[in-house]
Amino acid sequence: MAEFKQSTKLHNVLYDIRGPLLEHATRMEAEGHRILKLNIGNPAPFGFEAPDAVLVDMIRNLPNAQGYSDSRGILSARTAVSQYYQTRGIQTIGVDDIYLGNGVSELITLSLNALLNNGDEVLIPAPDYPLWTASVSLAGGTPVHYLNVEEEGWLPDLEDMEAKITDRTKGIVIINPNNPTGAVYPKETLEGILELARKHDLIVFSDEIYEKILYDDAEHINTAGLADDVLVITFSGLSKAYRVCGFRAGWMAISGPRHLAADYIEGINLLTNMRLCANVPAQHAIQTALGGYQSINDLILPGGRLLEQRDAAYNLLTAIPGVSVQKAKGALYMFPKLDPEVYPIHDDEKFALELLKAQKILISQGTAFNWVRPDHFRLVTLPNVRDLTDAVGRIGTFLEDWRAR
Ligand code: PLP
Repeated sequence: MAEFKQSTKLHNVLYDIRGPLLEHATRMEAEGHRILKLNIGNPAPFGFEAPDAVLVDMIRNLPNAQGYSDSRGILSARTAVSQYYQTRGIQTIGVDDIYLGNGVSELITLSLNALLNNGDEVLIPAPDYPLWTASVSLAGGTPVHYLNVEEEGWLPDLEDMEAKITDRTKGIVIINPNNPTGAVYPKETLEGILELARKHDLIVFSDEIYEKILYDDAEHINTAGLADDVLVITFSGLSKAYRVCGFRAGWMAISGPRHLAADYIEGINLLTNMRLCANVPAQHAIQTALGGYQSINDLILPGGRLLEQRDAAYNLLTAIPGVSVQKAKGALYMFPKLDPEVYPIHDDEKFALELLKAQKILISQGTAFNWVRPDHFRLVTLPNVRDLTDAVGRIGTFLEDWRAR
């Protein structure tokens, strides 16, 4: 019998956050082991709940949400998104520039599929949130990674970025606040990136899904607010700040010289129409979420759970010999470094698998985020301080055994 094989289109597509390690952990759970999962930025299983008003509004609207909606999304939600950007000083994003999607994820792949021809290049940060790299590859493009510099708070290396621009480059991806590093970019960095986009006629894809998850005095600046003359596509949604990853509610907003992008926007509209519409009940949550009480602030300000957990993760990790980490200024992650002199790791996936087997802790290896060396890992700062202490303690024990080898 003939074998059924996957498409060759998938040969360069990797999404290791949910890859073999997670499969192994799931098998261990089926065998009765309790695994502490520090691998996915999903607040709900860690006891975080959506604001009540968001749930109530969605339930109330269920009867009105049975049919397909407009492909771009219901008007009330798109109006709310447009008004939200107005309050952030961006006057030029109208309702027709906004597309609602089944999470930001769907819109990332959609926006790249509509743009890229085979071999077109997109600049993506290293490390990155790997959906960006995977989606560029799936769309036939070539992901080209620019370096973020750990010693400089993981800010992008603009010289490296510019050096990697070719005549095939179509766009630059920014993730701000950043997953996996927790960096929040200052205005000068964003202006520098916009200047490169201006100079080389590039589109800026600005993934701002963690825009409201900020620690200490970090301030988030919307890229789109800094330039009217650069085509910027801003991505955000409800998954993280409103703790409803499962609703699949996200949006993208196109700003800048849309008249130069009429053909691209026609392509976006075509793909938007082809997938009919995003999950309609969740679209009804958007207006209430954006307009209501911003309970995320209770979690990130002094005394807030997310801030306490970020601090605990930082203190616990940096107490382990040979481990260093930039303190996250935003988002839900830490991306610690394992000093290669102390821990000469050659295959960080194997390292993570050994950790899982020995200590029942699931983390993600740094190379899963397209980091260039096998000397980092990512953990989520979502577990409560007790569980984090337990988990990082077990990582410490594993590393101690490693040092004693
Ligand atoms: N962008 C970044 C940087 C993320 O970390 C995530 C999810 O972890 C997403 C996008 C996808 O979010 P959504 O749930 O809206 O699809």
